[in-house]
Amino acid sequence: MKNIAEIRADFPILNTKVYGKPLVYFDNGATTQKPQCVIDTMNEVYTTYNANIHRGVHAISDRASEEYEKAREKVRSFINADKREEIVFTSGTTASINAVAFSFGERFIKKGDEIIISNLEHHANIVPWQMMCDRKGAKLKIIPVNDNGEIIPEEYHKILSAKTRLVAVTQVSNALGTILPVNEIIEAAHAMNIPVLIDGAQGIQHGVTDVEKLDCDFYAFSGHKIYGPTGIGVLYGKEKWLTDMPPYQGGGDMVENVTFEKTTYNELPFKFEAGTMNFPGAIGLGTALDYVLSIGRENIAAREQELLEYAATRLAGIKGLKIYGNSPAKISTISFLLNNIHQYDTGMVLDKLGIAVRTGTHCAQPVMDRFGIDGTVRASMCFYNTKEEINILGTGIEKVISMFS
Ligand code: PLP
Repeated sequence: MKNIAEIRADFPILNTKVYGKPLVYFDNGATTQKPQCVIDTMNEVYTTYNANIHRGVHAISDRASEEYEKAREKVRSFINADKREEIVFTSGTTASINAVAFSFGERFIKKGDEIIISNLEHHANIVPWQMMCDRKGAKLKIIPVNDNGEIIPEEYHKILSAKTRLVAVTQVSNALGTILPVNEIIEAAHAMNIPVLIDGAQGIQHGVTDVEKLDCDFYAFSGHKIYGPTGIGVLYGKEKWLTDMPPYQGGGDMVENVTFEKTTYNELPFKFEAGTMNFPGAIGLGTALDYVLSIGRENIAAREQELLEYAATRLAGIKGLKIYGNSPAKISTISFLLNNIHQYDTGMVLDKLGIAVRTGTHCAQPVMDRFGIDGTVRASMCFYNTKEEINILGTGIEKVISMFS
């Protein structure tokens, strides 16, 4: 494995200074930074073969189409899906979940049906289901969360019923960092023939995700959270579902034949890719996945766990700091509040010290409500962060406390 200096050298933005101080980037849960190879790939697309895909008969259109399909194969292999037909490019996790909520909803949901989500969900895995429930007269059921920020499995088993049509849960909580027991969730749902969607926005970048082994029915993730470009994402769906689901957007490329009397749809996965797709983004995502594989997903997970332990120990010594999300199964994210100090004040002072953290509800308002708070400060670390940066954060937090006390 590359050493930390070599890894950091791959990410040009990590040399940035803010307010004259070295950038300490702890907002990786919101978006990750891009290695030079991804930036170079995007540059190469736009400078040497930018042309619309699947349409031209000319050389650079062929090249763009070929690279786009190669990227699909890279995604397939990365998550170990069975077939390339099961990999749909979207604009991100939000778009992927909305696609399922609309399309699966149209085909399979009727009045009185139930959809199960958890109390830990990002708004992207809440609102599309609420919209679908409104359209169809279905009901949303919620798996509650304990004081550690973990879902309560017994409560899940209680609400899983013959009325349940779909379970949609996150792999990892973006707000608290909790890793959910998705294997057990899927197993219990499948025992009752209920399909499961996994929101992988915070899971894909922190370890090995194998959709065959998981046996999930749908899996959604965003390129920008796994060191790839913004505006590209993936929806994995088992072929049997995608075949039965209607397209959710109409337009170019998703059709086979169009007349005013009748339109027939393209084969999978193109049936779900209407209009000009973000092919430079998809190609850039392919490079990002190659990069992650070159570092090694197990290596990334191990290094991030080391950072999490170090940060937990460093911050545990700070009086007045309370961590939200204390599950032993956690990614390298620490969500916290300081005694009587508003999270925005903390975030603003840390910013002046060059430290980028996220403050607020993290688009997960229901879990904030669960803990009776209106937000937290979130430091989300990844493998290019260092223990020195954690020390800078620790010192910065101590400064915030002394300023406001
Ligand atoms: N789901 C989770 C758990 C997330 O953390 C996020 C983004 O933070 C999303 C969904 C939405 O991702 P995007 O905005 O890339 O569509």
